[in-house]
Amino acid sequence: MSVQINEIWQKVVDNVNLSLTPETYNLWIAPLKPLGFENDIFTVAVPNIYFSQWIESHQQKNIEQVLSANLGRQIALQMQPQQDLTPIIAKVENTPAPADVAVAQSAQKDQINQKYLFNRFVVGASNRFAHGCSEAVAKNPGNQFNPLFLYGGVGLGKTHLLHAIGNHIKSSNSVLRVLYVTCETFVSEFIEAIRFGNPASFKNKYRSLDCLLIDDIQFLVGKESSQEEFFYIFNSLYDSRKQIVVSSDRPPKELEKVEERLISRFGWGVTADIQAPDLETRIAILRKKAEDEKLYVPDDVVIYIATQVKSNIRELEGSLLRITAFSAFTGTPLTVDSVQKILKDIVRPPDDSAPVTIENIQKIIAEEFNIELRDMKSKRRTDAVAFPRQIAMYLSRTLTDKFSTTDIGESFGGRDHTTVMHACNKIKEKMNSDPYFNAKLNQIIKKIRSLQ
Ligand code: ADP
Ligand code: MG
Repeated sequence: MSVQINEIWQKVVDNVNLSLTPETYNLWIAPLKPLGFENDIFTVAVPNIYFSQWIESHQQKNIEQVLSANLGRQIALQMQPQQDLTPIIAKVENTPAPADVAVAQSAQKDQINQKYLFNRFVVGASNRFAHGCSEAVAKNPGNQFNPLFLYGGVGLGKTHLLHAIGNHIKSSNSVLRVLYVTCETFVSEFIEAIRFGNPASFKNKYRSLDCLLIDDIQFLVGKESSQEEFFYIFNSLYDSRKQIVVSSDRPPKELEKVEERLISRFGWGVTADIQAPDLETRIAILRKKAEDEKLYVPDDVVIYIATQVKSNIRELEGSLLRITAFSAFTGTPLTVDSVQKILKDIVRPPDDSAPVTIENIQKIIAEEFNIELRDMKSKRRTDAVAFPRQIAMYLSRTLTDKFSTTDIGESFGGRDHTTVMHACNKIKEKMNSDPYFNAKLNQIIKKIRSLQ
């Protein structure tokens, strides 16, 4: 029985996940646990009463529908408050990078997240052109702007626009085959196809699409055979007037170690950049998010957050979620004062400070662990150097915005991106399991930030 309730709950969770942002999902849905199923009542454990309230007003109907559809009769959802709230607050602070949740969202075949729609995208000077091009492509795929190349810094809405294009095309013509894929997935699928000897089915999958939305193309940097394969797929789609939309964290000409012939093709259509949003747009985004999530946030609080969190829309969203969760958990009203306290760890140091660099991270970690700076790049693999090096890789990934795991690998003596990913996972795990280590790392982070 318990296997069965877990399976059913997994279906519910997969379904709910499709329509929530990763942050909302992790905050409210991930902590729920199925408890039992009796007399057509499905019971889940919730950490406390605020969860019951949130689920009731946001998701209960939807969850009951999925349960009923799966069990073939009318099912009611019942929530049982259980633990205390401490672990949940820790969770809010640890919202995952989007890559971590991509896997969880794989329930839908085309990988398109229904949450990311054009009408949820706030348009301002910083993204007007990119948004306009995306809408044009969505209305008329394969015709005018092909390929569409969107680029801009982290958390500025590239992925949102890719999904919005996909959702629009699907809803206006359900016959069209649309696929969203991160470049990372593309590359690993390609490698697997080669490894298991079925490259033909890989090629067919991509060549038979009407619209390919490929995210974070900078991941192709330095990967020659994947680039070549992508080049053929690109040509095949382009020649048959199928739409290609590419996103990148940098403009085409800065994609070093990507073949020239591919870069020149990226320029055949239209290239649009997304800048960091100005204050008005940040305010508008916060208001819209609050409205979408049915959160009440006073105007002066909205303005306070918008003036403090400047660079990145993901952080804006994170701050909003965090303050509303805190206020719900603790019963504190949202005022500028209380918000100031709640956000004090994530509001960045003054904006004119330079961004954190990999060099500084390496330097401080080497000092802290008493090893030579050159060991950050050396081939030595003894624990005494490998562990600090892994920490430095992890911090390079989390404290900087613009470096991919490939870039980071390069800065650590030309190591492979998988080595960097492995290091990040290892350090994350250690932080979760070892409070002493966690505290020490937080101290080091403060030191690194204060040095910039
Ligand atoms: P990127 O892919 O550029 O790193 P995302 O598309 O993942 O950024 O955006 C980060 C978060 O910010 C997402 O939750 C997205 O919905 C939100 N977001 C980004 N731009 C906007 C916007 N203009 N209006 C509303 N939400 C936005
Ligand atoms: Mg993205």
